[in-house]
Amino acid sequence: MADVSTTEESTERLEDTGYRLTAPRRAVLDAIAGSNRPFTIEELSERLPDIGRATVFRTIKLLQELDIVCRVPLEDGGIRYERSRSGRHHHHLICSECGSVTEFSDPTLDEAIEQNAETASFELDGHSAELYGRCAPCQRLS
Ligand SMILES: [Zn+2]
Ligand SMILES: [Zn+2]
Ligand SMILES: [Zn+2]
Repeated sequence: MADVSTTEESTERLEDTGYRLTAPRRAVLDAIAGSNRPFTIEELSERLPDIGRATVFRTIKLLQELDIVCRVPLEDGGIRYERSRSGRHHHHLICSECGSVTEFSDPTLDEAIEQNAETASFELDGHSAELYGRCAPCQRLS
């Protein structure tokens, strides 16, 4: 799958999957492209005063389904979102010191998760995995 790191690539993915690029969607994509850290819906809404919060929320949900944006649950229960760097299914390494989020993909882990669901006769819709701890630079600082 194509990298979705730029607004143009995200736009293409949106249109390829049959969604119209409405003005609010375009504005949300632009705002996301300009953010380098995980953000909350509130923070994103503040940067888009002309767009209703419900629209921002719905757009984020849509972008999440398309793997353009991903949901990052924090250890304290807070939810943040970030622009997906790989543009496909992945997991997160979340640093509790600096808040950095690193993506990783592991097909073996995905397979093991699916196996576990199957063994439990559980109908799986999806999964996410977050690893909490300290990133390498933060370990050096402490
Ligand atoms: Zn992610
Ligand atoms: Zn860190
Ligand atoms: Zn996975």
